[in-house]
Amino acid sequence: MSNSFRFQLVNKAFTKKALDITAPECPPSEYFGELVFDRKKMCKYLDANTLTAILDCIDNGAPLDRKTADGVAAGMKKWALEHHVTHVTHWFQPLTDGTAEKHDSLIEYDGNGGVIETFDGKSLIQQEPDASSFPNGGIRATFEARGYTAWDPTSPVFIQDDTLCIPTIFISYTGEALDYKTPLIKSIKAVSEASVPICKLFDPKVTKVYSYLGWEQEYFLVDEDLYSARPDLMITGRTLMGHESSKSQQLNDHYFGAIPPRVAAFMRDLEIAGHKLGIPVKTRHNEAAPNQFELAPIYGEANLANDQNQMLMNLMNLTARKHGFVALLHEKPFAGINGSGKHNNWSLGTDTGTPLLAPGKDAMGNLQFITFFVNVLAAVQRHNSVLKGSIASATNAHRLGGYEAPPAIVSAFLGKTMTQVLRQLLTVPSDTPIEIAGRKGKKLGILEIPEIFIDNTDRNRTSPFAFTGNRFEFRAVGSSANCAGAVTTLNAAVAQQLVSFKKALDKEIAKGKSLNVAVMDTLKPIIASVIDVVCFDGNGYSEEWHQEAVRRGLDTTTSVPEMIASFTSAPAVEMFTEAGVYTEPELHARNEVKWVTYIKKVQIEARVMGRMAINHIIPAALEYKQRLLQTVTSAKTVFPEDWASVCNSEIEAIREISACIKEIREKVDAMTEARKEANVIDDAYERARCYSKIADSLPEIRKPIDKLEELVDNDLWPLPKYRELLFIA
Ligand code: ADP
Ligand code: MG
Repeated sequence: MSNSFRFQLVNKAFTKKALDITAPECPPSEYFGELVFDRKKMCKYLDANTLTAILDCIDNGAPLDRKTADGVAAGMKKWALEHHVTHVTHWFQPLTDGTAEKHDSLIEYDGNGGVIETFDGKSLIQQEPDASSFPNGGIRATFEARGYTAWDPTSPVFIQDDTLCIPTIFISYTGEALDYKTPLIKSIKAVSEASVPICKLFDPKVTKVYSYLGWEQEYFLVDEDLYSARPDLMITGRTLMGHESSKSQQLNDHYFGAIPPRVAAFMRDLEIAGHKLGIPVKTRHNEAAPNQFELAPIYGEANLANDQNQMLMNLMNLTARKHGFVALLHEKPFAGINGSGKHNNWSLGTDTGTPLLAPGKDAMGNLQFITFFVNVLAAVQRHNSVLKGSIASATNAHRLGGYEAPPAIVSAFLGKTMTQVLRQLLTVPSDTPIEIAGRKGKKLGILEIPEIFIDNTDRNRTSPFAFTGNRFEFRAVGSSANCAGAVTTLNAAVAQQLVSFKKALDKEIAKGKSLNVAVMDTLKPIIASVIDVVCFDGNGYSEEWHQEAVRRGLDTTTSVPEMIASFTSAPAVEMFTEAGVYTEPELHARNEVKWVTYIKKVQIEARVMGRMAINHIIPAALEYKQRLLQTVTSAKTVFPEDWASVCNSEIEAIREISACIKEIREKVDAMTEARKEANVIDDAYERARCYSKIADSLPEIRKPIDKLEELVDNDLWPLPKYRELLFIA
């Protein structure tokens, strides 16, 4: 790229105006869910028998017969044709970074030389895509290439452009899950089945427990012209080089600041599109880093909320392009400033409307809350390394432990109030009622949850798993991740813990104890353990915490391949298989996929880094060096006596540039050699470990490149700089 081209790009980016958007003339309540085949549409488009049958299937898991499927398909077709739909696809979430879809037109021959639109129950329920091109971790051989997608009726069908999208699970010919959705649904069932018997002790009417998810999506926007001039951003999603801008986020002036008009126009467009798809987008704001933003919806049932996150990420990419932006969902697109996460707010609630992770209405309600609260902590303690494994990836590795996001140690933050409540519970008799202060006045013999806690939990940004009043916030999830990885693991761990708790509780009840005493007697040893091990309210970034965590037996590894390995450790296999979420072969296959994905991502980054260094950076540096050399040569003619002192700084610059070029070449060569050595290792885990060393070498190659950016004439620099990428909106 010639330098004048770079300046043209920057100028063009600077002068881009916000697009005029045509906002609908009605409030969101009138178009919300317009493009979703929700219950309202079912009532309108399905006959009475089909409606009853499909609702029984959605709400109670009743099996779906062919007649019902045909009835539903007929109703859907009618609705879809009214929206000018021409195609249909099964929409699924393979083990890649995004969703997958294969569109089929609705046309069939009508027997008279023309075509008609058709859509029946068979095409609704099942499709048979070739599974061999999706990551499967060796679960299927090429000769058994078949995979199946099967409709998930609990997540509504939606329309995108001209296509009817049917959310489906994706499984192999032999029944193993090849996607994120299947294990998520299994984990939702597991945690419900483990919770209900406990809830029934408090309220016999409970028949189901929901897992709720409220994700907060962080992202960056960059101008698409500048993006196109950065091969690293285009290919890897992050900048592999770039000197930090003189001003970045040190003034804290971006967080919650006024939203720039071009970004505001993008956000409005995105929200309208999201609302039409039934995504309850609620919050938008500027984040900490320049050009970084956040979007969060109202939380919902975890399976649907996760589908909506996938849809939203897709919409975000499409809408950004319309506004001349590219949305970066990478966890760390820019060095030296904050990266992006996706906080997963998670909670449980009964089908009778009782939240299980919020204080109750009375002493028994509070006891139920404490029961679930403590068991969640116990699950997180027992499986802290597996939970870390659930969020580990090549891209998230840049964020964890980077003094901006949680450290790579999974601990839980309770806040002062709940810590005090737990400590007190250990000291009072087991039959002490637990009340909320202020509700009933002070009475002797009552353990109080201060009322202030309910609206005002304190915060600790350094904790990966924080209690925030009515939910836990799993903050270590990466911005580009599929939330299902984390939520499935959490649900499975909690399900296992609740089952073992119920067994212990039954023994106490069998001794003739009253319910509250039996619950407290069962909880006390668990509380005593969690409070000393997994609960930590201090500074997660400190070195002392790292040492303390080692002493407490928490997993402190920062190696991504090792984090991934935790999924096939004996306790993880036991937990996942007991909960019925993954079989052992599925766990091994997933690890294989994760290691191979890790290797490929690092490999791609390493290649891009090498090529940019050699083809972009070194030629620019050589050109500038040549200019300096010419200056020195000319000086010899003009100042034959003292040219060396006249050109002192130029000579020094030539030396520095030469040293940087030499360093870059040597380091790139060494990295290429390291890749060659790694590539011949058969075992994916061992190969991934070698690649993690290659990942560590990239910042070392970056150093001399970033130094050159400071030395070389701005006109000659071939890449848009941080100050340009980050301050144009
Ligand atoms: P903050 O940044 O302060 O954590 P946000 O408003 O950005 O808060 O996001 C909070 C998220 O938590 C929202 O998606 C919200 O709907 C969700 N949430 C609130 N209550 C619950 C709950 N009980 N269970 C799950 N998610 C919840
Ligand atoms: Mg939050």
